[in-house]
Amino acid sequence: MTDLLQPAPKGFRSGYVTLVGAPNVGKSTLLNTLLKEKISITSARPQTTRNRILGVVHRPNAQMVFLDTPGVHASAKAMNRRIVEAAIATLAEADLVVLMVDLTSHDTDAENMLLKHLPSSGTPVLLALNKTDQADRETVLAAIAEWSSRYDFCDIVPISALKASQIDDLLQAMAPQLPEGPPFFPEDSITNQPVRFIAAELIREKAFRLTGEEIPYAVAVTVEAFVEEPEKGRVRIHATIHVERSSQKGIVIGKGGAKLKEIGTAARGDIERLLGTRVFLKLFVRVQKNWTRDTKALRRFGY
Ligand code: GDP
Ligand code: MG
Repeated sequence: MTDLLQPAPKGFRSGYVTLVGAPNVGKSTLLNTLLKEKISITSARPQTTRNRILGVVHRPNAQMVFLDTPGVHASAKAMNRRIVEAAIATLAEADLVVLMVDLTSHDTDAENMLLKHLPSSGTPVLLALNKTDQADRETVLAAIAEWSSRYDFCDIVPISALKASQIDDLLQAMAPQLPEGPPFFPEDSITNQPVRFIAAELIREKAFRLTGEEIPYAVAVTVEAFVEEPEKGRVRIHATIHVERSSQKGIVIGKGGAKLKEIGTAARGDIERLLGTRVFLKLFVRVQKNWTRDTKALRRFGY
């Protein structure tokens, strides 16, 4: 695990990108195309369709960190609500949102719901019109006209995720939308996943899932220590769960620490599967007002 980053060239941009869209529009396909290989955590985690998958794309002038949101279902059914909330939470955290739609079919409910939740200010939203290989020119032009009238996208790029066509155009349109700053992850993290970050995501997901309705999706996790201890055959991880109010801290910790233990055990299992090694996980809970506002800043410090 190295934290050494190359000094960024002047004008380098880096940021978190959230890919959203109705189910089956091609989000996973795009991510796989971008990374040119299946992301290993998919196989490591059988229930992964409900979780976020991360990929890092390096360009000479930019680094994009992708969060693949769970399929966004328009259904308000209780079972899907959290998934929708999780997807919407990633919208708020992203520096750039890429909305993907399918040129060959419409999931109107899901699209309307997504449009409703797109950032109304600040965060740019780029529209990717996918499956050009199955759509003629007129369809593409009509879709561009229709979608431009529905939302003020920073750009609209037709692509085929499956045939890997116009992916470069997409990345070129994305790069200038990201904030200027050094890369978050070293360049080899295309194959070596930024496990430290994924570990934080796994803990966050468990905290979110295991605390029930009382805790909003708005829980941040930072990893303070990620130390390989080969002599003990394990990785030692110290992480902090940030909540906004002390009442939430109580819920996350639970009676006699039971809830925190449950979160830790579940997260540790996932991280062990991801790393293929034993993990010693120590969790802290901290009340930090307005962390939501500070999350992007925290991440810039390398969390
Ligand atoms: P997700 O639910 O948004 O992650 O969608 P997937 O990536 O799982 O894709 C759903 C289906 O659409 C799969 O059968 C893909 O092979 C197919 N698909 C994705 N991108 C394209 C594309 O550019 N062209 C065509 N023809 N099919 C695509
Ligand atoms: Mg998918």
